[in-house]
Amino acid sequence: MTVIPFGAGVLAAGSVAYATFYQNSRIYGRIIARGSRGKMSLYLTFDDGPHPSATGRILEILDATETPAAFFMVGANVEKFSELARRVAACGQTVGNHTFHHQKLHLKGPRFIANELQQTHETIVRATDCQPGFFRAPHGYRNPFVSAVARRMGYASFGWTFGVWDTDQPGASEIRRRVRARLKPGAIILLHDGDGNDPRQDRSQTAEALPGIIDDAREAGYEFRPLAELVQA
Ligand SMILES: [Zn+2]
Repeated sequence: MTVIPFGAGVLAAGSVAYATFYQNSRIYGRIIARGSRGKMSLYLTFDDGPHPSATGRILEILDATETPAAFFMVGANVEKFSELARRVAACGQTVGNHTFHHQKLHLKGPRFIANELQQTHETIVRATDCQPGFFRAPHGYRNPFVSAVARRMGYASFGWTFGVWDTDQPGASEIRRRVRARLKPGAIILLHDGDGNDPRQDRSQTAEALPGIIDDAREAGYEFRPLAELVQA
């Protein structure tokens, strides 16, 4: 008799953990984590910037190779490096909201979460003159309030298909190799052009890896597509 409630309790706790910590869980609202498996499309995303160590170089590479990407920006970094944020938007790349202080949101209440998103929204509008419509939670951690606040503000919420731990700075060729090894149709690829917590972090390895990442994907028959096409899909 005691086994059933115990099992149910474990299952419930497991479900909450899954919904909170798995960046693509749909339990806390619709989240876009991947495009169509039937198309050779890829979606590049850069989190935690903008930052002088990488964002400018990444923009030049994207421009030169006519590659679309999305930048989920940290509000505090937009404030600090507003000219870089402006350039991202001016280059026609997608700008997204990644909160202001990059704190994990899963234990926060609706007021804190709304402030984080709103403050970032206003900072991005001021810096770029464009209205961000995409949101990604720091570390992908969510709770029911996160999705509700994002939805109320008109945001589409994004997860990702795979990351490659480029923040560990394993070397540009290793970052390139890891991306190549995990390519799959419809993948939303998570890379980083900044850091949410440490302003001194260097993301130049990610920028250095990018031309090879783009070459490898195109050689394998993939096409980079703008994230916006997944919102209507
Ligand atoms: Zn982040």
